[in-house]
Amino acid sequence: MAPEIVLSREEIDEIITKVADELNAMYENKNTIPVLIGVLKGALPFMMDLIKKLKFDLVIDFIQVTSYSGTSSTGVIHLKKDITTDIKNRDVIIVEDIIDTGLTLNYLKQYIQLNYSPRDIKIVCFVDKKPLRKVDLKADVVGITMNQAKFLVGYGFDYNEIGRNIGYVFVPSKKQLEEWDKKLKEN
Ligand code: 5GP
Repeated sequence: MAPEIVLSREEIDEIITKVADELNAMYENKNTIPVLIGVLKGALPFMMDLIKKLKFDLVIDFIQVTSYSGTSSTGVIHLKKDITTDIKNRDVIIVEDIIDTGLTLNYLKQYIQLNYSPRDIKIVCFVDKKPLRKVDLKADVVGITMNQAKFLVGYGFDYNEIGRNIGYVFVPSKKQLEEWDKKLKEN
């Protein structure tokens, strides 16, 4: 059975352009150099495509947390890698692949605020998946809103670390997941 494609490469490009336009309007004529903090690993393809369309001076950094296992969020968040840029009194833009329960970004926003005292934190996300939200967390710029709680793979989204390199976003079939499970066991 063909995979259920949720976002084609063309649709992804349109989303990136829309997000970049919004950010350009927010920062282009300001005397500030925002620090974009990409949330590893899922946001990597989105962040790399996005920054190429941004027309203001910026700095990039990365932070890594984990909360997912298989196809569901565990709700327990671990910080795996911290930023290295000094962001005190600076404008920060957190770049995330997807907001699901909202717990990860809620944690990250508080962690960054409490530990590094930036002037401002904005949140940009590629996909805003609404149904399973557990905390009242809103992104400042949203690529696309989804009202179904489907488990997505591709364009940064993984299944146990597999699938991030696929150029479009899709819902993997049960068969696909079984094939990946088998392969993972053998590697
Ligand atoms: P939250 O803390 O908002 O529940 O989840 C955020 C993280 O869960 C995302 O950064 C992403 O890594 C993971 N996540 C949420 N939904 C999906 C999904 O549909 N597919 C994949 N592969 N990861 C997801």
